[in-house]
Amino acid sequence: MSAVINETVQPGKTLVSLRNLNKHYGDFAAVDNISLDIQDGEFLTFLGSSGSGKSTTLSMLAGFETPSSGEILVSGQSLVNVPPHKRDIGMVFQRYSLFPHLSVRDNIGFPLSIRKHSADEVKKRVDAMLKLVQLESFAHRRPSQMSGGQQQRVAIARALVYEPRILLMDEPLGALDKKLREDLQDELRQLHRRLGITIVYVTHDQEEAMRLSQRIAIFSHGKIVGLGTGYDLYQNPPNAFVASFLGNSNFLKLKAQGNAAATFENQALSIRLTPNLRTDQDVLLMVRPEKALALSVAQAASEPLQAGWNEVTAKVTEVLFLGESQTCSVITAGGTAMTVKALSAAGMPLKAGDPVRVRWATADACVYTEWAEGDLNKAAGAH
Ligand code: ADP
Ligand code: MG
Repeated sequence: MSAVINETVQPGKTLVSLRNLNKHYGDFAAVDNISLDIQDGEFLTFLGSSGSGKSTTLSMLAGFETPSSGEILVSGQSLVNVPPHKRDIGMVFQRYSLFPHLSVRDNIGFPLSIRKHSADEVKKRVDAMLKLVQLESFAHRRPSQMSGGQQQRVAIARALVYEPRILLMDEPLGALDKKLREDLQDELRQLHRRLGITIVYVTHDQEEAMRLSQRIAIFSHGKIVGLGTGYDLYQNPPNAFVASFLGNSNFLKLKAQGNAAATFENQALSIRLTPNLRTDQDVLLMVRPEKALALSVAQAASEPLQAGWNEVTAKVTEVLFLGESQTCSVITAGGTAMTVKALSAAGMPLKAGDPVRVRWATADACVYTEWAEGDLNKAAGAH
């Protein structure tokens, strides 16, 4: 997994504000009181499982759906009564929705022709777009004579040709195979950098969100339950749902013993300082598999536990070689399953049945005081 970490969003101007936005279908809240500020020029992604409200939110921004209540502001001006074609917003969908009887050139020029630009102007701008999406030599083809990836580049060019300030993209690469998707992700990132346009992107694919976005808004049941850079959301998830949705997590159920200590299956552990914990309060600890180590008993004996680290005893259930990395699944005496991940180069001389010591640094483990059982289940968050 990768994340754009060296390209932070300037704490600059807010371009779009969603304020207490709701969309109800009967008494079902598809979008449930969302408030969000989108910065001018940022690449923001709505990430969530199917049905979490991403497309509905995007459609309200585009003007295809009317909010049940709430406000959408662009540069401080309300958009709610502005029709879609006057919103200065381009949109790309999963289905390319190109006109099959028009050439690539005429497809891209279409938004300009209906806006009554001169033929010269249309030609000039379409040429620039063809160059931008690297389809100069395809100008005269019909959509049916092109691959899915090429068609989607035409759709992107058509959305950009009238130079909208905001580009909305709803799972635009969802129908393409993995390799092509990754190529287009790279192209999109470069396009965003070159144009300086604001992009709001929808996907259910966490890796795609990580690759593309400066910030990610995580959707669940019509709400935004996490907002930040991919890096921050992954390293310090704000809640157990985000932890399990983004990447893999080990969850341990502990009883607090003071504000920085806890017990797990009668073993004493240190935890990040978490004020206001009551003795014996249930707390949830989250450790990423790559932040944990699994040591054989002999190894553990020769490498004493360092200050600021924890150790629990467990037994190996499975070791998997995954190429670049390896995983080791273990189970504790109390029946808690954990997974440890290491680079293959580091070696993992363990096999099923081996007793092990699983270690992690206190600072690397997140502590949650509130969660729902469903939050811990990857399947609940996955697509
Ligand atoms: P996502 O894009 O995250 O997959 P959507 O925004 O499309 O989710 O949908 C959110 C929820 O709203 C879903 O449960 C969906 O079934 C429901 N929904 C969307 N459009 C309608 C509609 N026109 N009528 C009734 N329910 C709808
Ligand atoms: Mg959708």
